[in-house]
Amino acid sequence: MNHLRAWVPALLPLAILLAWNLLGAPSSSLISFFWAAVIFYALWVGWHRQEALRFRVWFREKTTRIPPVSSGIWEETFAEGYHWRRHQEIRQQQLNRQIMQLRDALQTLPDALLLMDEDGRLLWMNPAAVELFHLHWPDDLGKPLSFWLRLPHMQEFLKGAGPGNLAVQFPHRPDAIFEALRYPLGDAGTLVLFRDISRLRQLEQVRQDFVANVSHELRSPLTVIQGFLENLLDGPLGQDEEAGPQLRLMEEQGKRMQSLVEDLLSLARVESATPDPQRCETVFVAQMVERTRESLMTSIVEKSLSVHLELDFGLAVFAEPLDIHSVVQNLLENAVKYSPRGRDIYVRWSMEEGRLALRVRDTGDGIPREHLQRVTERFYRVDKGRSRRVGGTGLGLSIVRHTAERYAGSLQVRSEVGKGSEFAVFFPVDLARYGNSWQEEATEDVIKVS
Ligand code: ADP
Repeated sequence: MNHLRAWVPALLPLAILLAWNLLGAPSSSLISFFWAAVIFYALWVGWHRQEALRFRVWFREKTTRIPPVSSGIWEETFAEGYHWRRHQEIRQQQLNRQIMQLRDALQTLPDALLLMDEDGRLLWMNPAAVELFHLHWPDDLGKPLSFWLRLPHMQEFLKGAGPGNLAVQFPHRPDAIFEALRYPLGDAGTLVLFRDISRLRQLEQVRQDFVANVSHELRSPLTVIQGFLENLLDGPLGQDEEAGPQLRLMEEQGKRMQSLVEDLLSLARVESATPDPQRCETVFVAQMVERTRESLMTSIVEKSLSVHLELDFGLAVFAEPLDIHSVVQNLLENAVKYSPRGRDIYVRWSMEEGRLALRVRDTGDGIPREHLQRVTERFYRVDKGRSRRVGGTGLGLSIVRHTAERYAGSLQVRSEVGKGSEFAVFFPVDLARYGNSWQEEATEDVIKVS
């Protein structure tokens, strides 16, 4: 409708001219009318141009909010422009308010926040960051973040893609431990947050110490009780029809408690601290695997299992022997415990793609997918009854994972129901040592045990 109204003044002179012509007007009057129409046209186009210009100036320069007075279609255009601008202003105010609220929240945050661009240059910081790194606002903006954060691993951390975290200790704050968290924000840069986790670490330490102390305190009385129970079982009471089975049950449960206490102590040890260099030595894993297999021979033979070994006897790892022993023991024991009769177990120790790898694979029942993520948690069992029946404490895989992580390594679990499971422990290549173990030749052969 507006469109049509806009064309009325333009078409009106043409319509009159046409009507005049049809009514047989003299040619001189026709010519003068033609010129009158041309002048009218020129004025009409000029007016539109003028109004368009006024609209542009008013809309762009924003000197006044009230639109200039106009008429016809331009009155409507100015009104539309006014509403649009008003709407934008309100929206802008809302956004500004939200930004201010967010900024105030970030300013009061006790964690240090830094925003860096893709080249690692400082774009923004909050007061906590200014205080922690002794920065100067705004002079330090635009300077590389690495200038203040000259710590081991920090450069790789800052350059890393995707989210990440790192525990750090600053030389000027030796009393505190910080966790650095990296959040990429796309084109907006990367947000780096430093939060003080000293209290968290302290509580974690208290918890670990508590578990370790309780386990330690339980160890001696349990050993005494076990000793007396064994004596009683060896005596006439062990043969008693009523007391005998009860004593045997007590002994069995006592053994379970002992394994639990031992596992809790192992876990506390590997969780609590980095490896002690004094205790680290060249550990020939192949040799340890063979010994562990020997210790499990009764169960292996009982269940008619076939153990296939593919071990590099010349390859060793520089670590605490106790740690490597618990990794080998737990993985082999699990493979034996959770394999049904007559199945195969494969153990491989070798250098794999620049890292040391110990792989223990069985052809047992496997672990359902939904449990895979959780089997390395403390006390997590896929089948509680089965684990208890086979003498499990629910701590074995947790010990293995923490031990691997203690050496900057990892534990990888793969499993398929009905096909079996594979547990692979990886250690960094800098822990690799080469030499001669008690069995000189490196073997690639499969040793069939039963
Ligand atoms: P547990 O002492 O109960 O064996 P672990 O931490 O060693 O505890 O293992 C956790 C759980 O993972 C076990 O209870 C068992 O359900 C499952 N699991 C571990 N190893 C295997 C395996 N080789 N095959 C199938 N299930 C396994």
